[in-house]
Amino acid sequence: MTEKHVKVLVLGSGPAGLSAALYAARAELEPIVLTGMQLGGQAALTHTIENYPGFPEGVGGAQLGELFQKQAENFGAKVEFNMAHEVDLSQRPFTVKTDDGDYKAETLIVTTGANPNHLEIPGEVELTGRGVSYCATCDGWFFKDKRVVIVGGGDSAFEEALFITRYASSVTLIHRREEFRAGAILQNRAKEHPKMNFILDTVVTEVVGTDKLTALKLKNVKTGQESTFETDGLFIFIGHTPNSQMFKGQLEMSDLGYVLVNDKMETSVEGVYAAGEIADPHFRQVITSAGMGAAAAIQATKFLEEKETVHS
Ligand code: NAP
Repeated sequence: MTEKHVKVLVLGSGPAGLSAALYAARAELEPIVLTGMQLGGQAALTHTIENYPGFPEGVGGAQLGELFQKQAENFGAKVEFNMAHEVDLSQRPFTVKTDDGDYKAETLIVTTGANPNHLEIPGEVELTGRGVSYCATCDGWFFKDKRVVIVGGGDSAFEEALFITRYASSVTLIHRREEFRAGAILQNRAKEHPKMNFILDTVVTEVVGTDKLTALKLKNVKTGQESTFETDGLFIFIGHTPNSQMFKGQLEMSDLGYVLVNDKMETSVEGVYAAGEIADPHFRQVITSAGMGAAAAIQATKFLEEKETVHS
């Protein structure tokens, strides 16, 4: 097993991680990025990103991730397909364990993002990949000319529902309330789309099917009325949970598991920074995550400079 010593170790390769890597690389700190499971993070699973400035026609999520990576690598960042599974933040350099060996990091920038929430209803786990999905960009194509249900009422649900209309014969959005959280532009686009239907005040209580999803059991939360809704696909977009389990007991977190940072992206441990969705329950945009990543790297650079001055 190898042990690598790095000045800046970035955990995660979404917009926050790759922006942090770019800034740390430009400060000549030769950062290493451990990609985690999903190169490019959640953003890479988004078909088109229309609100990242500089791309007036929109840009593919995966393409934007590749551009971020290339730019960081051009300045000397190293992106490694590897995953941290244990950290020790009790002393510097911090220890990060991976299957390929340990890293000793002078500073750590945590950008491990968030994972999609599950409905936690019968049949959901069994039929995931057999009609149930959490990623329209990954699985939308499989539902060509098929009936699809979307659960959720936020921007993600609307954006992904609209994306799936290019394949599916019909897209029915089921939401547990009457009002949506999604922005007006997305709501209007969806409401005007001929393939889209809405079922409100309703929850999905069971996913039905043996080998593949065939129907959903629904319940109207106002009337209590139960029904069965036939469909070929179920896409669930009901928010995310921060990927922070590895840091429990070591970094201060909110009740929901978001790593707490101050306005300099500093965590409760000196030399450890967090950026992007793991530390942001509010905005969760590519641009805000990228900004947080840049800020974290600037702060890590200052921290290392101060330590060097003290020791020289
Ligand atoms: P969100 O805004 O938190 O919306 C989650 C939705 O899921 C809500 O409508 C919620 O219902 C519903 N929900 C939660 N738990 C549920 C359950 N157990 N059963 C049924 N429904 C449930 O999440 P999001 O859509 O992923 O968006 C997260 C953030 O990212 C937001 O700030 C959003 O603006 C941002 N975002 C932006 C864009 C964009 O700008 N293009 C795209 C995607 C995401 P209630 O409303 O009743 O709570």
